[in-house]
Amino acid sequence: MHHSNYDKNPSEICVSIIIPMFNESKSLDVLMTRLNSVLSQINDRCELVFIDDGSTDETWALLQQLRLSDCEHQCIKLSRNFGKEAAMSAGLAQARGLAIILLDADLQDPPELIPQMLQAWRAGYEVVNMRRKKRLGETWFKRFSAACFYRLMNWMSDSPVPENVGDFRLLSRQVIDHINAMPERNRFMKGILSWPGFTQTTIEFDRDPRSVGETKWNYGKLVGLAMDGITSFSFKPLRLATWFGVTIGLSSLVYGAWIVLKTLVYGEAVAGYASMMAVQLFLAGIQLLALGLIGEYLGRVFMEVKQRPVFIVEDVYHQQSIPHTVFP
Ligand code: UDP
Ligand code: MG
Repeated sequence: MHHSNYDKNPSEICVSIIIPMFNESKSLDVLMTRLNSVLSQINDRCELVFIDDGSTDETWALLQQLRLSDCEHQCIKLSRNFGKEAAMSAGLAQARGLAIILLDADLQDPPELIPQMLQAWRAGYEVVNMRRKKRLGETWFKRFSAACFYRLMNWMSDSPVPENVGDFRLLSRQVIDHINAMPERNRFMKGILSWPGFTQTTIEFDRDPRSVGETKWNYGKLVGLAMDGITSFSFKPLRLATWFGVTIGLSSLVYGAWIVLKTLVYGEAVAGYASMMAVQLFLAGIQLLALGLIGEYLGRVFMEVKQRPVFIVEDVYHQQSIPHTVFP
């Protein structure tokens, strides 16, 4: 999964900031303004890793025009839109820092918190999770569905996902090496980033609304993401289907015995079209549901065995920092 075309020297760069971008040409200006003022406070050597996730606007052109004085940057162009999860995977594979920070381009994750995150990392934490206290600019329905998702996910999954912690977080080199070594194609990042464990800490923050542009997610995509998360980190749904089957099987035995008994004692004639229909439809529904579930897992096995790459890098552009002009 490593696509680097130059020598990696991890000891050189201290902090990597990974920024996935999909049609973010409008955000870049304000992003760089705020990032630059943060980066100028950091004394360590930093690099920015931009991933152009198949943008159709001028994102790539703007990225190539960037000239930074406080840090170096690399830009990775994916061959098409692979989705945020794949874009982040590309960034993680390419980043060289000892501490790696994932940041959204739309400034919903305030870059001003980066020094605080680095401080926690220096204090010995391998993972710094950023928990959203408030989710400004999001509808109640989005917040409600997010809350439901975390509940369901953590009930189902064996490796819990911290609630209201997005992709904005800091991970140490050690953790990233483990994540990069994970072979799965299905990159549900919230799960993958939490899975290795290690010493963690959490910082709370207020999540701002998107600065400019529009969200790249719709509810269809979010449901898909939730489904990915649950089915790629747990097989509890399958076990639930089994339990459902066992329960229904047992109760139908009891019910059958009751019908036989009733006929023997009261000699009642056959009746009950309605109850039969209800049971029939219920069972058909459950069966289809279980079949669909098996299909979800089978589909995932299918995608995994194909062993296709998670993303394709079309172009990499690497820029050393421009030295400050020294006046005599
Ligand atoms: N993004 C991406 N590929 C996609 C969708 C989104 O790289 O297919 C990036 C996007 O440019 C942004 C980040 O992922 O930097 C978060 O996206 P967005 O703000 O649209 O999501 P939301 O904050 O609404 O969850
Ligand atoms: Mg956003």
